[in-house]
Amino acid sequence: MRTARRGTGRTCRSYTRPVDRRNFLTVTAAAPALLGRLNTAIDRMEIVSSHEHLLAESERISDKADFFTLVSHYLANDLVSAGAPAAPKTYAEFAPWWRASRLTGYGQALRIATKDIYGEEPSSAAAVARINSKMAAANKPGLYQSVLKDRARIRYSVLDDYWHGDPQRPDPRFFVLARKMDWFCSARQAADIRKMEEATGVSISGVGGLKKAMERRLEQSLEQGLVTLKTTLAYSRSLRFEVVSEQDAEADFEQLMKAPQPRPPERLSDHMFHHALALAQDKGLPVQVHTGYLAGNAGVLENTRPMLLSNLFTRYPKVTFDLFHTGWPWVHETTALAKMHRNVTADFCWMWVLSPAGARAALSEMLETVPANKILGFGGDYRYVELSYAHAKMAKAGIARVLGEKVAAGWCAEGEVLEVARMILHDNAARLFPNRKT
Ligand SMILES: [Zn+2]
Repeated sequence: MRTARRGTGRTCRSYTRPVDRRNFLTVTAAAPALLGRLNTAIDRMEIVSSHEHLLAESERISDKADFFTLVSHYLANDLVSAGAPAAPKTYAEFAPWWRASRLTGYGQALRIATKDIYGEEPSSAAAVARINSKMAAANKPGLYQSVLKDRARIRYSVLDDYWHGDPQRPDPRFFVLARKMDWFCSARQAADIRKMEEATGVSISGVGGLKKAMERRLEQSLEQGLVTLKTTLAYSRSLRFEVVSEQDAEADFEQLMKAPQPRPPERLSDHMFHHALALAQDKGLPVQVHTGYLAGNAGVLENTRPMLLSNLFTRYPKVTFDLFHTGWPWVHETTALAKMHRNVTADFCWMWVLSPAGARAALSEMLETVPANKILGFGGDYRYVELSYAHAKMAKAGIARVLGEKVAAGWCAEGEVLEVARMILHDNAARLFPNRKT
């Protein structure tokens, strides 16, 4: 369903206010009345979330999530960064580091989730106990309808359920499927190859077999409703994928079959990644690429720069490369790449909690730089629906604020920015990752 047009009735045609060039250099805050109208209109819009890790509702219910389960997803990384020895399990372990972390985007998401859904913020051990008893009561079928659809107005989400070994068809009321082929780009030893043979039924005696196994895995995933490939190889290697001959890749394959390698041999990994892209091109699938900041409290950030992907965009012109997290902190690289290449989109998934101010700055620049049909404005990137709801609320507020600034600066009219909001919150993701079931 497309979001109905609502709003102020001000359209491009009725817009006659001259552009005030003095305002272009500074951010002009939207007047409260304008911001109020935009917030109301954007709040009503339906969202397609470009990226989530949400458990199936039945798994979530049997897992018996509590307050500290919510803390474990992302906020725990800030608590550890603040000095906590590990993810907290009690209020006493949580409180000192929470005082330091509650203003971050992750902290804000937790506050919104507990306050809006369970009635209060985690301000004391007693408050957390009350939140826990309300969470236990809500942990039943209907939770996803209530939080994802009724509260967050998320029509559906692209699901990366990486914890499932074999591809599984997700609940079509809420999800379409993304899967990775990274496994086939990360072989390090003969035992890895044996597991791939078991999972795909393809016998692998060289690079040709490895490619066939990847193809089989893709077929298995398509049978379960896959709409996009995804890669998180940036967590384990550089995003520069050189063009490598099959012969050179074969040499790496033989090496790893003889003895386990300390890390996946690079030439084989490069060659297999290019094969995944060739398959995506052949099947007309987009590829979601993790770029920029890494979850957790360790990692090689310079491996993740969006610009490292530059050699791929013209080589695979029919593949849309959806650059995740706007490549933050290398937002300018993503902005330039999305402006230049027809097949590159900028995706704000994770961004409104990762760096809320960074997300606003990125959107402000992108709106004046990149065509709006190439900006995907929201992906919750959470495992628990309460936090995806909170993230959606933060994204909508951030988007309204940036769009309000554009109107206040005289860059465009109020009716125009609402159209842009619909594109970046719904239409662009719906076009790239279609869900034929909702
Ligand atoms: Zn993710």
